[in-house]
Amino acid sequence: MTQNPRFPPGAGQPDAEQPDPARRCPCGSGENYAGCCARFHQGAPAPTAEALMRSRYSANALLGEDPAFFAAYLHRTWAAETRPALGDLTAPGPVWRGLRIVDTTAGGPFHDTGSVEFVASYQDDAGPEPRRAGAAPVRGRLHELSRFRRESGQWLYVDGDLS
Ligand SMILES: [Zn+2]
Repeated sequence: MTQNPRFPPGAGQPDAEQPDPARRCPCGSGENYAGCCARFHQGAPAPTAEALMRSRYSANALLGEDPAFFAAYLHRTWAAETRPALGDLTAPGPVWRGLRIVDTTAGGPFHDTGSVEFVASYQDDAGPEPRRAGAAPVRGRLHELSRFRRESGQWLYVDGDLS
């Protein structure tokens, strides 16, 4: 059981305005943002562990557009015993490029626990450490089996195993 400190710290496009509700949701559902993850970011409880996972991915993808708002979402949907400090979640990370759900176990409206296996693709425009001028962007994938639990009707991210 390992925690993955790199996910949540996500990134978005700095200097952009509030997410456009009509654009496609970053989670890749094919819905627009308003009809998908926006309602969870604005306070509605995610009905399933997968919906929560998608909304947390979207929050990471949009983080740079409103770090305080999206970091607060990541923080309140993260189990109290495993979550980082709120201030650690606002730091910019890589640019998230796409999400693919591989598998889900339980995590439905009648479950109290669930897991979601996913692959998230990212690009780190700053290049590898140590930073070098003109370094090529680094692309990578995060493959994680995440565990979730439902508490007072709200799904929470607990931890995950990277593979
Ligand atoms: Zn979405």
